[in-house]
Amino acid sequence: MSQRPASSPFRISMRDIARRPGTQRTVSESFPAPAVLGTDVIGVPEGAELRLDVSLESVSEGIWVSGTVMAEAVGECGRCLDEVRQQVAAPVQGLFTVDDVHADDEEGEPEDVFQFDGETVDLEEVVRDAVASELPFTPLCRPDCPGLCDQCGARLADDPDHAHDAIDPRWSALQSLTEEKES
Ligand SMILES: [Zn+2]
Ligand SMILES: [Zn+2]
Repeated sequence: MSQRPASSPFRISMRDIARRPGTQRTVSESFPAPAVLGTDVIGVPEGAELRLDVSLESVSEGIWVSGTVMAEAVGECGRCLDEVRQQVAAPVQGLFTVDDVHADDEEGEPEDVFQFDGETVDLEEVVRDAVASELPFTPLCRPDCPGLCDQCGARLADDPDHAHDAIDPRWSALQSLTEEKES
């Protein structure tokens, strides 16, 4: 899972602008997601198109990346289990630094700071974080999805008046009498 082949579409060579503060370049590319981006309940499926529009700017610490990632996430409604599709347009932002990312790291890993080897930025993590931050914890097919009947599992959206009659207590008493006779 953590293997990143050299051919990863997220890896972008910075040789032309690295160590030349003030220079910049834009990247506008669409490519199939090499792996799922998201969670178990909703995510951009592997192979789905990702649209990446970022500007890469050479700064004294390394490379400053900012832009947008767009994709369609697919998931499951947390109430009725129907498919949920959601357009994601997430802001991407991060500093790729040649300095040690963990140098003055006392309160956990700093956000939006990534390691840069001086030659290639790997946007996978920053894009992954950006997409994840736009996805709901509990996807819903619609905000007022009524979910499923807790007794029979029927979809309540299809049948708003769905109800189960409570068994008449007199009838159930009679029924248990009959059962006693039979046994
Ligand atoms: Zn639903
Ligand atoms: Zn039911």
